[in-house]
Amino acid sequence: MSRLYFDHNATTPLCPEAKAAWLEVVDTHWMNPSSPYRAAAAVQVRLEAARAELADLCQVEAERLVFCSGATEANNVVFRHWAQRLPASGRVGLSPVEHPSVLEAAKHYFGERIEYLPVDAAGRVDMAVLEKRLGAGGLAAVSIMAANNETGVLQAWPEAAQLCRRAGVPYHCDASQWVGKQPMTGMGAGHYVSGCAHNFGGPKGVGFLILPSQGDPCRITFGGGQEYGHRAGTEDVAGVLAMLAALRAAKPQATTARDAFIAEITQRVAGTQVLGEGAEHLWNTVALVMPEFSSTRWVRALEKAGCWLSSGSACSTGHASVSHVLLAMGLDAAVAGRVLRVSSGFETSRADWQALAEAFTGAYQSLREADAASPSKVISID
Ligand code: PLP
Repeated sequence: MSRLYFDHNATTPLCPEAKAAWLEVVDTHWMNPSSPYRAAAAVQVRLEAARAELADLCQVEAERLVFCSGATEANNVVFRHWAQRLPASGRVGLSPVEHPSVLEAAKHYFGERIEYLPVDAAGRVDMAVLEKRLGAGGLAAVSIMAANNETGVLQAWPEAAQLCRRAGVPYHCDASQWVGKQPMTGMGAGHYVSGCAHNFGGPKGVGFLILPSQGDPCRITFGGGQEYGHRAGTEDVAGVLAMLAALRAAKPQATTARDAFIAEITQRVAGTQVLGEGAEHLWNTVALVMPEFSSTRWVRALEKAGCWLSSGSACSTGHASVSHVLLAMGLDAAVAGRVLRVSSGFETSRADWQALAEAFTGAYQSLREADAASPSKVISID
């Protein structure tokens, strides 16, 4: 049975361009870029060319760009840096819909000094509230993501960056789901920006952090002077070049296929709702509230039908707890327990979306038949 993969916000398959770039480096440019002979210098040149290219795309100076192991590392580093640099009483403003790598790092370093910014039913931060709190001098730093991994809803992050700049407050943007899917221009508007390769066809374990051009240097690791002294350790040149190749190949798309699927699924499974409807979304993501059955049962039934998708953030898979994102959006736990996340990729075709809609019909029928056959055995959290 051919499989339909609709969980690209958890991770994407390596795209052919990234694979070719990675293989080329491990075959021919595998030397340590810091070694003192010409062949190694050639590796260093390629690494710096990749840095210059990414910096150019983000419209930042190359020195602001640090390659690292991914967005979890980048996000953690920002909060550790802030904990060391901000005044002891400084409060940090966060959206409550951030990825756990932001929320947990913030809790670890700032605890009671976190101020959650209110979000609307689509999970978007109210910029008027942010402006007011910045104006009142209540925040020493702010972190608001670019696009939500569970719902695909876009934040007004360029506005948040501007408000913070005007107030002289450092702003961090976790752009992990934005990079490669949305236009990169203006990415450097944030003082700190995190991104990772595996959400747009690049390898896992590679990402970047944009740092401010001024201020105290942020030291991620101590040791050799790699990454302009910010992050010691032999660089993953193959990973970085594969990330760049994937980014070059990634092209923002229209929401047409997603929208057609929504029209189809809401007809096929009556009562299905779309989360954050009316808000701006990533072209590849839709979060659905199903009318019946827990998301766990839907995921299993759809997998049997050949489709892989998620009941929420993959980073929290294995935890039975309800998504903090959905709760922050005002859903009650029972409704949040019926949410499915559908996320496509660059290789997904219109026919794949159509086949997914058909699989939903079959899965719905099989779930209903299972309940009708043995209603007493069914444990549901609906
Ligand atoms: N932030 C967001 C919004 C994500 O979606 C992810 C993972 O996809 C991360 C952070 C963590 O990134 P990584 O897996 O590179 O550590």
